[in-house]
Amino acid sequence: MESVNPTLLIAPCGMNCSICTAYLREKNKCPGCREIDIDKPITRVECKIKKCEFFQKTGTMFCFQCDRFPCDHLKHLDQRYRTKYGMSMVENLENIRKAGIQQFIEDEKARWACPECGGTICVHKRYCYSCRKKEQQTTSLK
Ligand SMILES: [Zn+2]
Repeated sequence: MESVNPTLLIAPCGMNCSICTAYLREKNKCPGCREIDIDKPITRVECKIKKCEFFQKTGTMFCFQCDRFPCDHLKHLDQRYRTKYGMSMVENLENIRKAGIQQFIEDEKARWACPECGGTICVHKRYCYSCRKKEQQTTSLK
C-alpha cells in the first residue's frame, strides 16, 4: 500500500478512494478509481463520472477543472454522499482547488484517522479496518 502514489487515490470526483469500503476490504478489493478497470467491482467501472467524455478527452485530473462543474452527475453523487455518509465530493474538490492536492491528502489522513490505532476509518461503514473499532462519535466527523 505504501508504494501507491497517494494522488492516484483521489478520484476525479473528489472521492478519497483510501476511505472507501471497496478499497479497504480484504475480499474483491478495488485498487481505486484511477487504477485499471480489470478485476474491479462493476459499480466503479460503470461510474458516469469516470466515463465522462470531457474527462476522457482532456485527461483532466479533477471535475472542478471542467466547464460544466458541478454537472448533474456530480451533483447527484454529492447529494447521495452528503445524505448517507456525511461527506461531500464538491467540498472535497473545493478544498483541493484551494489548498492543493498534497494538503488535501494530509487533511484527509487526519480526518479519517482512527483515534485508537491510527488506521483508516471507512466512510461507508464508520469502521476502522485496522483495529475493527466502530467510530464512537460519528458526529465528530463532518
Ligand atoms: Zn483503528
